[in-house]
Amino acid sequence: MMKSIYGKLICGFLITIIFSFSVSGIIALKSNYDQIDDMAQTELSATSDFIASVINSTDRTKLNDVLSKYSNSTQVNTTIFSPEIGYFTFGKTTMHAPDEKQMQSYYFDENKNGVYGEENNYQTYGSLIEIGDSNAYVYIQKDTSYEKRIFANSAVLILGCVFLSGNLVFLAIADIIVKPITRLTKATKELSKGNYSVRVNYVGDDEISQLNQGFNQMAQQLAKQEEIRQKFISDISHEFQTPLTAIQGFANILKEEDLPKEQRQKYADIILFQSKRLSTLSKNMLQLTLLEREDVELEFTTYSIVEQLDRVISTQENQAILKDIEIQFEQPRKDIMIYGDEQRLEQVWINLISNAIKYTDNGGLVTVSVKKTARDVEVSIEDTGHGMSKEVISHIFERFYREEKARSVEGNGLGLSIVKSIIDLHHGNIDVISQVDVGSTFIVRLPSERKFIDLKDKLSLNRKD
Ligand code: ADP
Repeated sequence: MMKSIYGKLICGFLITIIFSFSVSGIIALKSNYDQIDDMAQTELSATSDFIASVINSTDRTKLNDVLSKYSNSTQVNTTIFSPEIGYFTFGKTTMHAPDEKQMQSYYFDENKNGVYGEENNYQTYGSLIEIGDSNAYVYIQKDTSYEKRIFANSAVLILGCVFLSGNLVFLAIADIIVKPITRLTKATKELSKGNYSVRVNYVGDDEISQLNQGFNQMAQQLAKQEEIRQKFISDISHEFQTPLTAIQGFANILKEEDLPKEQRQKYADIILFQSKRLSTLSKNMLQLTLLEREDVELEFTTYSIVEQLDRVISTQENQAILKDIEIQFEQPRKDIMIYGDEQRLEQVWINLISNAIKYTDNGGLVTVSVKKTARDVEVSIEDTGHGMSKEVISHIFERFYREEKARSVEGNGLGLSIVKSIIDLHHGNIDVISQVDVGSTFIVRLPSERKFIDLKDKLSLNRKD
């Protein structure tokens, strides 16, 4: 119970109530008792005057009777002494009235005239009163414990009532707070078991509602990621399956001993080709996974992008010659330097130029150009190939996406995902302009200098805040 938020709330409430009631109770009791004592003293001095007038106006033979009745009807003890009328005491026997000897000494002691005091919890007052031509000493005691007890009892009663009713109200309030938290805890447990469809209801905009809203958003995000993960896995297994089936099939045929040499050669080549395909696929997947890691680190240097493009084009020329495709490089008059990860950007140009060659028919043209703008370096790769519809363009940067008619061409649908990840890591962007059966142009813009990258870094951080 103590461990639950419920228990903690109740304990907190009890401690608060007990503490605040103890403090206020002590202060109220003290002030009330002081008031009762003050009132008692006023009453005692009036009583003393009253007794004086009773003694003066009453027949001495009835005096005893009158004073005794008076004392019994009040919470007052009266003791009188005078050498003339002697010693009388009336009232409650529980109070210890001074004896005759004490009264005699008070009578003769000037300091004891008109003196208030407190004795065994009783308020006392002693004074000389005039009776006829002489004096008498009157000592009056008042028992205030009764009034004090009444107040203490009502304080205890109030405490009890507040305790009970407060607890009931508090239990109801605690329920309102605790219930949504319990619901959220249950939902969190469900989520941790992998049930991403779990959601919590919420109304309003208080802290708990915001927490619930945050939970729902998190669950939704997780569900989306889970969907992407599952699609990724099914795409991977599908991509692996096709070459593996081919390898298995042709390896089985190769087992036949009387196979002509040419066929053996042909099937071995297919197996080799398919295993290369598998190897490229796993390399691309690894590359993509590394690029998408949160802690991916790029190795930035400043280097000549013109030289880099020139180098990449010469490595791709073999493929182009096979299809009788010409690659034109429109070199700028001045060298252009760029601040970036040389190795990774090389991958970007390889993927884009090899795609341009792959998706262009024999005899086509691929044009590569590079220019520098105020802040960026702009590289464009243009081809006279198949082109793409708007619908196709909206998917080409998704993992494993391949246009239907592209399936006859070697590929795995990861090249442009890798391109996009690398460009994003450089805070650059990529645009595609394309027309079906006319050709496509991929335009990459990258910040040319470190300060522009830092600036974009800061801007994207601010946006995240
Ligand atoms: P892959 O080339 O391995 O299929 P990519 O991710 O590089 O994978 O490209 C995704 C798809 O985008 C290709 O399958 C193709 O349909 C389309 N595509 C990419 N580049 C071009 C291009 N230059 N011309 C026409 N279509 C292209």
